[in-house]
Amino acid sequence: MIPIAKPLLGDEEKRAVLEVLDSAKLAQGEKVAAFEKAFAQFIGVKHAIATSNGTTALHAAILAHGIGKNDEVITTPFSFIATANAIVMAGATPVFVDIEENSFNINPDLIESAITSKTKAILPVHLFGRPADMDKIMAIAQKHNLIVIEDACQAHGAECLISNANLPTTTKKVGSFGTGCFSFYPTKNMTTGEGGIITTNNDEVAAKLRRIISHGSEKRYHHLHLGYNYRMTDISAAIGLEQLKKLPNFNQKRIENAKYLNQKFQQKGLHSKIIVPELVDGHVFHQYTIRVKTQDEESNNNQSKLTRDILLHQLTAKEIGTGVFYPIPIHKQQAYPHLNHLSFPHTEKAAEEVLSLPVHPGLTNDDLYEVVDAVTLAFKNFEDSAEIKND
Ligand SMILES: *Cc1c(COP(=O)(O)O)cnc(C)c1O
Repeated sequence: MIPIAKPLLGDEEKRAVLEVLDSAKLAQGEKVAAFEKAFAQFIGVKHAIATSNGTTALHAAILAHGIGKNDEVITTPFSFIATANAIVMAGATPVFVDIEENSFNINPDLIESAITSKTKAILPVHLFGRPADMDKIMAIAQKHNLIVIEDACQAHGAECLISNANLPTTTKKVGSFGTGCFSFYPTKNMTTGEGGIITTNNDEVAAKLRRIISHGSEKRYHHLHLGYNYRMTDISAAIGLEQLKKLPNFNQKRIENAKYLNQKFQQKGLHSKIIVPELVDGHVFHQYTIRVKTQDEESNNNQSKLTRDILLHQLTAKEIGTGVFYPIPIHKQQAYPHLNHLSFPHTEKAAEEVLSLPVHPGLTNDDLYEVVDAVTLAFKNFEDSAEIKND
């Protein structure tokens, strides 16, 4: 079985966990502090505040900016539901904007028309590890005086190219534009088991975040306002410190795997049948997501087509793990019945067409070849059987 995701944990993580167990200091302590410092440095921000998971990171970040009742937050309907849930958990209202067809990220050109007098923030998601268009998003936020909270739960180490008129082009990591939220769930680019972190350059927001994740207290048993227990443990942070050292190599391998898959699918002549992800700089390929086209745009022949779901079943039969991220857009979820009437055409089309193939750094060359072979064969067999039917 080739899994769609697999955390890579080695002797370093095992040793680090045993060290914490031997110390008998399991809850938040030195390891969390060291992990926060290292992560802040990696992203290029002043503060990082570790949390119990990515959802609590998002929730705390929204609260720390004073966003709540009667406030609107502009976000994407094509994401894991936690993105919208965090907004609702804070008492605010998610306002969706459709995605761009190629990047699967929020379409910045549609954001301004969604802004109302109640809009407080823009919450872009760097989906699949590809940075959202932060150039345009930051410009809109500045113009309308809006907060930016980045859902970077799939994009540890992803970066945007920054071109300045007279200066050489530089890069800037996601999570350093606005307030950044990351998840360390085992399927993500790096893991701490369960875990999350918030990144910010704002001292005031950082101080408020520290209180929010610890029942509103700066001093023990002195509670200034409502808060939660959203803290990370030293066991998780010890794993995170080791994973963070490995993250650049993990990401490099993901990028190489994505390049390989793109090249092979092109060689096999599949580019007319599937759309492969664009190899943009700074994309860290949390997922390698293809589209299996539902309609033939250039011809109106009504020949049956190999659909995403047929391909998914054939790959499953060959023990190749796949993922559909996400089969139901957030506005169509049962959890949000009052939003079900809304329509975001690009999001809805993507939900029908996307299929993620294994791209994680644990894949061997043989695994990659098997993935290419199985996809190629699925299309070939389908076409052969269609020909027989036509004869
Ligand atoms: C994983 C993820 C989250 C939530 O993170 P958890 O650690 O699972 O709570 C939020 N948003 C996106 C886009 C994610 O992929």
